[in-house]
Amino acid sequence: MKEKPFWETVALEDMSAEQWESLCDGCGKCCLLKLEDEDTLELAYTEVVCRLLDLGTCQCTRYPERSRLVPDCITLTPDIIPTLRWMPRTCAYRLLSEGKPLPWWHPLISKDPETVHQAGISVRGRVVSERRAGDLEDHIVDWPDEDVG
Ligand code: SF4
Ligand code: SF4
Repeated sequence: MKEKPFWETVALEDMSAEQWESLCDGCGKCCLLKLEDEDTLELAYTEVVCRLLDLGTCQCTRYPERSRLVPDCITLTPDIIPTLRWMPRTCAYRLLSEGKPLPWWHPLISKDPETVHQAGISVRGRVVSERRAGDLEDHIVDWPDEDVG
């Protein structure tokens, strides 16, 4: 009988650091800047990404130092995930914390880090860096919150 993969048998809070890090599909969506309406507290995604994101690989260019360099950058933990209402629906941490399976394009399933891009899930090719974006209000978009597909 085929053994189940670790993300189906190990709880998020019991994963090793290596297992935990491997859950990230590399989509880059959590690095999109968001706007919050002061009155309604509604959140809107923008197509603008953090200045430290590599627009080609969709990876953080300063991952070990990210918290110091970008104080708004949140370090994910099992406890915090359910409280982050802006986490993309496609995010593996959110999917697993909601008891959902990983999709076919996730690199842990496909064994290919490119499938997250090929499936149109990542931010590659559709974002601008905050270094050159200008006014965030001009960049509001809906696509980051689309369904897993
Ligand atoms: S949204 Fe989730 S899966 Fe995508 S880069 Fe962020 S942590 Fe990784
Ligand atoms: S510091 Fe890195 S991980 Fe954090 S939001 Fe910016 S690019 Fe993303």
